[in-house]
Amino acid sequence: MPSLKFAALSLCAAALIAVSQPAAHAQDAETIIRAGTLIDGTSNAPLKNQLIFIKNDRIVKVSAAPAQPPTGFNVIDLSNSTVLPGLIDSHTHIFLWGEDPAKGGYDANILKAGIALRAARATFACRRALEQGFTTLRDLETEGAGYGDVEIREAITEGTIPGPRLFCATRAISSTGGYNLEGYAPELDMPKGAQIIDGPIEARKAARQQLDHGADWIKVYMTHRSWVDKQGHLVSQPTLTVEELKAIVDEAHGWGKKVACHAYNGIGLQRALDGGCDSIEHGLDMTEAQVKQMAAQGTWYCPTLQIYYEDWAPEDTPGGKRDRARAALHEASYKRALQAHLKIVFGTDIGGMPWTESIAREFPRMVNLGMSPMDAIQAATSRPAEMLDMKGEIGVVAPGAYADIIAVQGDPLKDISTLEHVTFVMHNGSVFRNDQPK
Ligand SMILES: [Zn+2]
Repeated sequence: MPSLKFAALSLCAAALIAVSQPAAHAQDAETIIRAGTLIDGTSNAPLKNQLIFIKNDRIVKVSAAPAQPPTGFNVIDLSNSTVLPGLIDSHTHIFLWGEDPAKGGYDANILKAGIALRAARATFACRRALEQGFTTLRDLETEGAGYGDVEIREAITEGTIPGPRLFCATRAISSTGGYNLEGYAPELDMPKGAQIIDGPIEARKAARQQLDHGADWIKVYMTHRSWVDKQGHLVSQPTLTVEELKAIVDEAHGWGKKVACHAYNGIGLQRALDGGCDSIEHGLDMTEAQVKQMAAQGTWYCPTLQIYYEDWAPEDTPGGKRDRARAALHEASYKRALQAHLKIVFGTDIGGMPWTESIAREFPRMVNLGMSPMDAIQAATSRPAEMLDMKGEIGVVAPGAYADIIAVQGDPLKDISTLEHVTFVMHNGSVFRNDQPK
């Protein structure tokens, strides 16, 4: 029996209950968090000495702490910590296990691991994300693991494994010649890390199949290979046509869903914007005109800076030149986006780098290139919540929101790398870790 349907029905039921019942009151709260400093995800300045009242999986009240702490509650003392909403990574791959060339690169993920091993690794990735304070992920495709993300999401929802709230993109879509595995003998029918389509009819059908099987987002590759040309410019190969992308966007929007577009620069990036995509992933080399178009269309921008500093090929090789050009152009592109006040969300592409690495390493990259620490925090909290149509429900510490709450020692507004050392994680009202220093 399609348990997906069951999940969808339960969600609908939960939504109905949320609408038809009055919100829980502070006096019903069971747990109180004492927050020494609270960065709530939307306010411009932190608040001191706050009490966060929690009932089941929701926050019911946030108020200044009185001199006499209220009694009769389970109290979690974070009075020596900075408390924040659970973090959101808007670009992950729980089914990828790194792309280290020494370990076989991307291809080994698909050629050397069966689905059970891949599911076990995805389970590890979910736990890793949660213990680092990332309580929500937009997971942008399974890289050949089919609809595995939807099933991992179900395992988390039913409580079988710990993990963050997942927004799943399932298989992703690209065109012939537009995705790995590639470079093998042409006689071999190699598996692909994305669903390959050609023409608007196949494009729409692929979107329908993915939405039918539980995709929360559609992920599309608008560029694929990249290289440095004779003039020293970064060039990226375009994949889908505007007509193909428009068919996908039209279909996804009809289902009330959005489309994330991997796009580096040039023709492919332009087609992504003209085709009406909702978020640009990476955007390594966006021109002034393209940034303007994104601002006008309200397109989200998920830069993923850190990953372009990983695994550089040697400097004097074509690959090495490309790797260095990508990082340099990306910095300039990101700064143009900052200046234009684009809607920027935190994303890492983790999975492309190993899940043993720190997710929050992306924060110092964002801040060192000119974003304020508070903006960087909001790019990983309230801003992606809006992109995910969860404004007020995640990415904020406020009444009515899910009780996704983390804490760090020290002040992330002074030193953003503090977010790499999360000591407390609550997800949906349950404490996942509490390693407060005594
Ligand atoms: Zn990615």
